[in-house]
Amino acid sequence: MLENLHKLRDKALHALESITDSEELENWRIEHLGRKSELSQILRNLGQLSPEERPAVGQLANEVKLALEAAYDDKAKVLKREELERALREQRIDVTLPGRPVSLGRLHLTTQTLREIYAIFGQMGFQVYESPDVETDELNFGLLNMPPHHPARDMWDTFWISDEVLLRTHTSPGQIRVMRERYPEPIRVILPGKCYRYEQVTARSEHQFYQVEGLAVGHAITLTDLIGTLTEFARRLYGPQRRIRIRGSYFPFTEPSIEADMDCILCGGEGCRVCRYSGWLEVCGAGMVHPVVLQNGGYDPDEWSGFAFGLGVERPAMVKYNIDDIRLFYGNDLRFLRQF
Ligand SMILES: [Zn+2]
Repeated sequence: MLENLHKLRDKALHALESITDSEELENWRIEHLGRKSELSQILRNLGQLSPEERPAVGQLANEVKLALEAAYDDKAKVLKREELERALREQRIDVTLPGRPVSLGRLHLTTQTLREIYAIFGQMGFQVYESPDVETDELNFGLLNMPPHHPARDMWDTFWISDEVLLRTHTSPGQIRVMRERYPEPIRVILPGKCYRYEQVTARSEHQFYQVEGLAVGHAITLTDLIGTLTEFARRLYGPQRRIRIRGSYFPFTEPSIEADMDCILCGGEGCRVCRYSGWLEVCGAGMVHPVVLQNGGYDPDEWSGFAFGLGVERPAMVKYNIDDIRLFYGNDLRFLRQF
């Protein structure tokens, strides 16, 4: 029996030497140290041995067991280290490989145009003043000199939230808001934002669009200040050679009212498809703030005067980049957006 145990131990240790991975090691453990192993059986059956044989066999069997367990632990450590080294070698990260490109977003063409407009007016001393998209009938129409049933309301049909609340048709209600907030300070602001019209969507008109309103209120502000401001704006946006043309017009909230055009940037006034062969492109509607509007904003029209204008944002971008359909601005088609 003692001889048997020695053989068993030598055989097991010999087998352990040739093991190269942890799976083989586990099989070895089951075979030599597991519950069904020869060694376990010997230890289990010690009671059946004669009292003379039992102590020596028991002692040796336990020694063999301890020796095999120690050998197993050593081997496990060695294998673990080897496997780690192999993994590090085989799965090494190559830091010289080119990185995966991160796709960068970009600003929407409308945002780019807005920022250009902000920069130009910012240099002329205008602050940006934002006011709500959802407005009351009173601010959108009434206080801008368009009481209920005023015929000019027909020019601006919109989306109604209730009888009194609507989506603003222009950024002009911001004029009243800023005047009431700033009185009695002089004002020089631009009011950018989205406007809404209940009208058919075509290549030239959307039911939503951006507008930048301008408002200056002060002492002795005149129409020439307005024309000078618009001329300077057109020249900074489209180039120093631009010419401006002023036509009389009508808006309920300005008096007198004008339309400002500039010579066509594509044909220089010769006439082309973009300017509809007129040689001129619309820049904006504008005028001197109507006395009633000044008063509604809290400014006494006998002491104060001011000018206001309303610029489109998509239209100038359409002219600049030769875009023939305004619906592209809201279509979210990346093929379009990536061009700018
Ligand atoms: Zn033209």
